[in-house]
Amino acid sequence: MSALYVARVRDSPRLVGIARLAAASDLLEAKRTVEYFELETRRFIGRGSGRMRSIWTVNPYRGCEFGCKYCYARYAHEFMELRDPELFERKIYAKQFHKQAFRAELQKLKPGETIWIGTATDPYQPAERRFRITRRILEAFSSERGFDLGITTKSDLVAQDAALLAEIGRKNRVGVHLTITTLDEALARLLEPRAPRPALRLGALKKLSDAGVRVSVLAHPVMPLINDSEQSLDEVCDAAARNGASAFSAGALFLKPCAQQVFFPFLEQRFPHLVRRYRERFESSAYLKGAYPKMLEERLQKIRARHRMKTWEAPEWPASDQMELFGETGQERGRQS
Ligand code: SF4
Repeated sequence: MSALYVARVRDSPRLVGIARLAAASDLLEAKRTVEYFELETRRFIGRGSGRMRSIWTVNPYRGCEFGCKYCYARYAHEFMELRDPELFERKIYAKQFHKQAFRAELQKLKPGETIWIGTATDPYQPAERRFRITRRILEAFSSERGFDLGITTKSDLVAQDAALLAEIGRKNRVGVHLTITTLDEALARLLEPRAPRPALRLGALKKLSDAGVRVSVLAHPVMPLINDSEQSLDEVCDAAARNGASAFSAGALFLKPCAQQVFFPFLEQRFPHLVRRYRERFESSAYLKGAYPKMLEERLQKIRARHRMKTWEAPEWPASDQMELFGETGQERGRQS
């Protein structure tokens, strides 16, 4: 037990569960604005909940450096008593990975079940270059067969695992789902400040597709009057089709209170003319209701038909129980997964 651990726990006697472990985590590395910690983890694979009860979730990192303005996963840092939503981008926790323990967890699952990597945070965020936990998970997975494995990311780093994913895909059903909300590089930089540019994500899509990996594109979230025009969505779908994706989907923005703390100041700064309308819409509910979701789905259907793309629903798609899906209910709320 390090002196640092003793000091942190002594200074925070009321912390329990995941908050206590986070406070005691060893600092692995610090960049100019980001610190990386190692988080002790007893279980890597968590159960989805609500209507996604049948899905198993894996999230190698807590926090995400990409810092998307609409990110809905910021609340997970609150479980570690890190209540400033900006800390979600600056304190990144890499979960301790032990191959044998992970394989033992896998052995308990039944063939045919779905395992989803990246339901809460991006598994190919910059931390992956350094810690390679997602890579090690896939390597551990490579001797399995009969599972349905999905990965959601907005990083081109996923392409470095193209050959391994193709190999896994020979014995399992594998799908990689790249999120691309817009092809407008300037807009993407505003919305997703440290995520790879859309062109890089399309390049990754092509490499994965060329390697034989099944890929789809999610234009999620769709934000009214920001990236929801038919032209904007059509451009993304068209580029997805040309780079090998077989499915294209999107869902309307939803804003839980934790996400609002970042998104509303962002709107005030960059889209002040939209602030009043967004506040009115999200005042009483985190979800857009009324005609908008229907209009969006009709628009998407038209676009998909134009480009002969299939639809595909992400497991974290908004629904009334959406926030339960991150495995943050029984598994992660207040304690580690
Ligand atoms: S990539 Fe995903 S997890 Fe990371 S900040 Fe963006 S929305 Fe959040």
